[in-house]
Amino acid sequence: MTALRRTVRLRSAPMRPLDLNVMCDQCNKSRAHGNHTKCSKLRQAEAVERRSQNN
Ligand SMILES: [Zn+2]
Repeated sequence: MTALRRTVRLRSAPMRPLDLNVMCDQCNKSRAHGNHTKCSKLRQAEAVERRSQNN
């Protein structure tokens, strides 16, 4: 039974690197430092704008 679990594949495609996870895309600083609540709100506002533009 152990032979069935030798290689792990995620649908034969590599996972995308989440490059925006470490650095904040709003203030270009590390998300681990500082307060980014404003940044997240800005990001959300942008997403709403994009959605309204699509519709
Ligand atoms: Zn930020």
